[in-house]
Amino acid sequence: MKQTNTNLPVAKGQIVEINIERLNHDGEGVGKVDGFTVFVPGTAPEDRVSAKIISLQKTYARALVQEIINESPHRIAPTCAHYDDCGGCQLQHINYEQQLVIKRNIVIDALRRIGGLDVPVHPVLGMAEPWQYRNKAQVPVGMDGTLKAGFYEKRTHKIVDLDCCHIQHPSNDLVVHAVRAILKKMAIPIYDEKNHTGLIRHIVVRTSFSTGEILVILVTNGRKLPRQNDVVEAIRKNVDKVTGIVQNINMKQANVILGNEDILLWGKSYLQESLDGLSFHVSPRSFFQVNTLQTDALYAKVREYTALTGQETVYDLYCGIGTISLYLSRYAGKVIGVELVNAAVKDAQKNAELNGITNVEFHKGAAEQLVPERLKKGAKADVVIVDPPRKGCDERLLSAMVSMKTSRIVYVSCNPATLARDLKYLTGKGYAVTEVQPVDMFPHTSHVETVVLMSRVKE
Ligand code: SAH
Repeated sequence: MKQTNTNLPVAKGQIVEINIERLNHDGEGVGKVDGFTVFVPGTAPEDRVSAKIISLQKTYARALVQEIINESPHRIAPTCAHYDDCGGCQLQHINYEQQLVIKRNIVIDALRRIGGLDVPVHPVLGMAEPWQYRNKAQVPVGMDGTLKAGFYEKRTHKIVDLDCCHIQHPSNDLVVHAVRAILKKMAIPIYDEKNHTGLIRHIVVRTSFSTGEILVILVTNGRKLPRQNDVVEAIRKNVDKVTGIVQNINMKQANVILGNEDILLWGKSYLQESLDGLSFHVSPRSFFQVNTLQTDALYAKVREYTALTGQETVYDLYCGIGTISLYLSRYAGKVIGVELVNAAVKDAQKNAELNGITNVEFHKGAAEQLVPERLKKGAKADVVIVDPPRKGCDERLLSAMVSMKTSRIVYVSCNPATLARDLKYLTGKGYAVTEVQPVDMFPHTSHVETVVLMSRVKE
């Protein structure tokens, strides 16, 4: 039934014709009907489509494509057979060059709209080969008549078997197939999300691009893994290059993939990665950039923006396993890393030792608590790097950074919206945006990573 709201130019159920002007941060097409914004998923800039309005808010509507009237010149056939069903990628129907243009526009738009900032944004640093880049696969497992391991069908929790994910390192796919076959053959109980019963919830695979090592993590709703020895033996036999098998216990009735406890079933409890001549231990739950190749490009940009001469004191906030800290330690006087997750801090300390680096220290804590505390004790820094999760930085941290009067701030962000919000705060407090460099860490998805240099302009 049509919902009528006489104040709005469109109604629910109505079919409208729209020119798609751009894509939003979720990868949905954006167009206007009589000046009113309409979001249309699965479209490309320069498409003209007819679409049915399915939901209506005060300032925008959402619509589903009925027909493509004029096809955008940027459209291509998606590589993946599951593209329409799987929610993992959003841009496979658009050529890669245009994906980079779109991502740059997403950053420009967020900075303008949310940050009130009209600043130059460099073209996105893309990949020469934008496939098979992910070093980590997190695959849900369920029973649907038979065992399924793959992805959740879009907007549902129905698990669909997946044979090949084109953005994954090819060995991740092979490992998932092997583990899926083993679990099936040994009739290991599989998790039932509805009733919160059964055991195996996810198969997680992490592959090191540099050493080829593979870590297999079985996420379980419970401690006892039936036929544990047989499962371990079979994985060792069938997964070439596996160096560690870990059970992660997650008994929560929530969407979060990993629980807080790991049990080493066999081998090494970590993966060894290397970046720019440094070695890193990555434990099962520690953050490591998922696109190893582009991490080099990202960190090189961070280094360039820090403009280190060898004397500086650098804060690396949200430091994970200390990758940026250790990478920069070779060019700075001293680097102080701050990280919330204990296992990551331990990895960071181990990584400093492993590489014989002594001018770094790592502290466990929330950056928004630890930095103001250290500031009170007179802490100083020449450069502060922040690399927060999607929600961005807490205002208590931003305020402490301003009080520190650091001459340079390098902000690494995976979310243009919170980046724009935080840059707005800092530009109001004596900093100016000097450089904005988006980096494509996640080809074929709508995600974009951005490195920003801010310089202090006011005493
Ligand atoms: N810079 C690192 C990690 C970035 S991911 C790298 O390039 O690999 C963001 C990290 O911030 C995660 O390791 C997460 O555990 C950590 N984190 C989340 N909230 C935090 C907070 N409030 N204070 C400090 N670290 C936090």
